[in-house]
Amino acid sequence: MPGSEDWDWSEPKRPRRLASVEDHLLWTYARLSVTRQMMEAHRHGRPDRFAGGRSKWANIEMTKYQRGVRNISSLDRDDRLSQDGLRLCAHCGTSAPRYQWDHLIPRSKLAGAYVALNQVRSCPRCNMSRGDKDLMLWHRQNLTFPTLGILRRYLNLCYFYAKQQECLAISADKAVEGGLPFDPRYLPRKFPKVDAVIWDYAHPPSSDTSHRE
Ligand SMILES: [Zn+2]
Repeated sequence: MPGSEDWDWSEPKRPRRLASVEDHLLWTYARLSVTRQMMEAHRHGRPDRFAGGRSKWANIEMTKYQRGVRNISSLDRDDRLSQDGLRLCAHCGTSAPRYQWDHLIPRSKLAGAYVALNQVRSCPRCNMSRGDKDLMLWHRQNLTFPTLGILRRYLNLCYFYAKQQECLAISADKAVEGGLPFDPRYLPRKFPKVDAVIWDYAHPPSSDTSHRE
């Protein structure tokens, strides 16, 4: 299965300093966006326009997000995507006779708030193993990397809840202490190579014309 290689979750050699919850979210989002664009270029046999490496370009994207030139995508698009797609486990891509609904942000941490988008199809094995662990902590412990489609959805949800709780501008440490329902410090700051990441099991590239960037 592609993507099943262990990912060691080591930290980048010269990590960018991230303080606020928003910084953490935007930084992972910027890396995701560059990685996604590189994947698309590879897939269509186009030359890579990201000479100099992903970090450099993620820094440029990050500045655009911080200045509001670009925005983190809305929940609506992901909401639409979550309605369809192949019936496969969102975490490991296996097909199981029966699925369970796994919550990207554990239900136990969301007092009352319900967002359909937070639910993904999960095989019983992934669902059991994860329990109500922070999604990124679970991936770290399993040495797996989330698919980019799920990671984007997760970031959008995190952004939504952090904004709702007025936590975007405060430090990640303080926000977690104060009950933020996810831990921004576990978000990936380094991504596997472009050909080792999966876009989305439920929306493989051949059928993904409906959700272009
Ligand atoms: Zn699974």
